[in-house]
Amino acid sequence: MQTATSSLSPKIPPRIARLEELAYNFWWSWHREARDLFKMLDYPLWRSTGHNPVKMLLEVPPERLGELVADPLFLRQYDAVLMALDADLTNGHLWFPKQYPDLTARPVAYFSAEFGLHQSLPLYSGGLGVLAGDHCKEASDLGLPFVAVGFLYEMGYFRQRITPDGWQEAIYPRFKPEEVAIREALCDDGECLFVPVEVGDRTVHLQVWHVQVGRTRLYLMDADNDLNAPWDRELTARLYGGDQEMRIQQEIVLGIGGVRVLRALGIDPHVFHLNEGHSAFLVLERARELVEAGLSFDEARQAVQATTVFTTHTPVPAGHDVFPFHLVEKYFHTYWPRLGLSREQFLELGSHTGNRQGFNMTVLALRMCGQCNGVSKLHGEVSRQMWQSVWPDRPVEQVPITHITNGIHVPAWIGEAINKIYRRYLGPDWVERHDDPALWERILDVPDEELWAAHLHLKRKLMSLIRERARQRRIEGLMNPEQVLCAGTFLDPDALIIGFARRFATYKRASLIFHDLERLKRLLHDRYRPVQFIFAGKAHPADEGGKRLLQQIYNIAKDPAVGGRIAFIEDYDLQVARYLVQGVDVWLNTPRRPYEASGTSGQKAAANGIPSLSVLDGWWAEGYNGANGWAIDPGQRYDDPAAQDAADAEALYHLLENEVVPLFYKRDADDVPRGWVRVMKEAIRTVVPVFCTRRMVKEYAERFYIPAARRAAEIESLGLRITAGATHV
Ligand SMILES: *Cc1c(COP(=O)(O)O)cnc(C)c1O
Repeated sequence: MQTATSSLSPKIPPRIARLEELAYNFWWSWHREARDLFKMLDYPLWRSTGHNPVKMLLEVPPERLGELVADPLFLRQYDAVLMALDADLTNGHLWFPKQYPDLTARPVAYFSAEFGLHQSLPLYSGGLGVLAGDHCKEASDLGLPFVAVGFLYEMGYFRQRITPDGWQEAIYPRFKPEEVAIREALCDDGECLFVPVEVGDRTVHLQVWHVQVGRTRLYLMDADNDLNAPWDRELTARLYGGDQEMRIQQEIVLGIGGVRVLRALGIDPHVFHLNEGHSAFLVLERARELVEAGLSFDEARQAVQATTVFTTHTPVPAGHDVFPFHLVEKYFHTYWPRLGLSREQFLELGSHTGNRQGFNMTVLALRMCGQCNGVSKLHGEVSRQMWQSVWPDRPVEQVPITHITNGIHVPAWIGEAINKIYRRYLGPDWVERHDDPALWERILDVPDEELWAAHLHLKRKLMSLIRERARQRRIEGLMNPEQVLCAGTFLDPDALIIGFARRFATYKRASLIFHDLERLKRLLHDRYRPVQFIFAGKAHPADEGGKRLLQQIYNIAKDPAVGGRIAFIEDYDLQVARYLVQGVDVWLNTPRRPYEASGTSGQKAAANGIPSLSVLDGWWAEGYNGANGWAIDPGQRYDDPAAQDAADAEALYHLLENEVVPLFYKRDADDVPRGWVRVMKEAIRTVVPVFCTRRMVKEYAERFYIPAARRAAEIESLGLRITAGATHV
């Protein structure tokens, strides 16, 4: 396969020509030296483009590039960065090829409806996408052969704007492909690659783009081209737009189209991984290939099961797609005969005794994938109960769903000041070994004042981001003066700041802290020990309840009676998330247990030494150890949600009043909160080595991918097949 070259090339002097390659590989985003290089290139542009090197190279004046070629400091940095890139892109020394040299020839194919790699490529709405992005980055770091498949949403998820009365407006700017690090995939003849897929009785042509993420390739499908009817061009316009019929069509494109794209590219994965059920139709497409190559459906199903991994991500019922049978009939009535199945047999694949109301994508995936998991220990348990009806003859503990707890790609999430400390006290190669708990014992050697100073530095950086965003919005006429107040511009960097940022889904209970407003106000206005809050997050545009919740919080923040001590940062995205998880003092999470399958933002905070104050749900139920943060735990469970909310709120206030606030303000003569720093260190020591994607991806590899790859080899050695073979375009 080839890739289109851009119009940038002639502009860049030959001595620094590989800047373009670097700009088009998101590798730069988790390597400090590479980020520094782009900052050196043109710092104002770095900021005004929102850290987008491709846009920078488009906009940078040629004279500036001329200056850089004469700047020895820049050239030295340039050479060092490219050497590091080349070293990372060559194979031998990385974990996977060293451990499994016989399995490097074929990749794992990873399908996801969202990918959160960087704020310049808004193909994500929340944790699912960010996890997928982190998985890609870690696969690259580990040398795991890995290709990812998703959509190019040209309007992405929405941008959030809050009106003066607190109502969320959704804006859909169409991004310009030439300004982001994506490229058209080309066929051998140099033409753009288009892959046809039947959606009902139409054929939709998918243009294929590619994104380079270190060694990992992400392929994006795009229906917005002249070969398609106007309504089909909308299929890949937005993330989670549209109705159920739009959705089933999108999922046909993702699952079936995605397999066709890999075939067209000549990529022959030995293992497939479904990140959530959105892509579950891919199991049907792979079975179809095998049936048409001569296998029975049962044989095909066994081959698919042996080589497919499915991760389910939520215990919230609405998070699982269920399509009415008539829609499935409409889009698949010509498909099931090709599988050798009757209508009833086909519909059975997506139904279970628990619910025969429709075709459930999670059930399809569970039936057709040999390895299934939830994303934390607790979520594994909940999932086994939830899906027991798919295996009605088994007791719940034998339901074949295990768990692999989520993690974060640590180098992508830590602040530079913290990274410096890790380099100094853990060793310059700490990233290579950061899933080793023994390494993190050394965090106890870091002098308290040094860790505290690094934290204060990152806190100040958060304050300046907040002010800069408010200033921009005010200048652009998007904010009135009252809104500037609640944008966080008057937060006191010396006082405690508690962060809460996530999607405004109701189960996350963003408003729990407002349960008793008077009690909260006493905390906010304490003369000597004030408490401040920063909120951020988007409600799904169709979620009226979520938008009302957001409005309620916004209006409290705006109220002069809270005195600017509660801030709401508009337009939560990866950039805002990064500054928040690096710069607040405490990370608050108040989900209604057990609906937070894992949650990852608290892990990002901990990697920066920021402890969690959280309900014992998701990852925190296994991460909390009594000394590395705080557990909001009323000690009793209630069936009535209102009673549970009241008890959880009481536990939260109690912790704040008696533990969190006093500890934060307990200073020694040097103004260092030693007891607090001890909690920070404990958070780092216990969370980073366990809740990182390095541990997580190794676990996927060792427990799922490698056994599946070995089964694939066994099946093939019997003269059978796990794929119907790749067809080159
Ligand atoms: C990490 C992250 C999330 C997920 O956070 P949760 O803890 O799962 O709520 C959502 N959005 C963004 C932008 C993130 O960076």
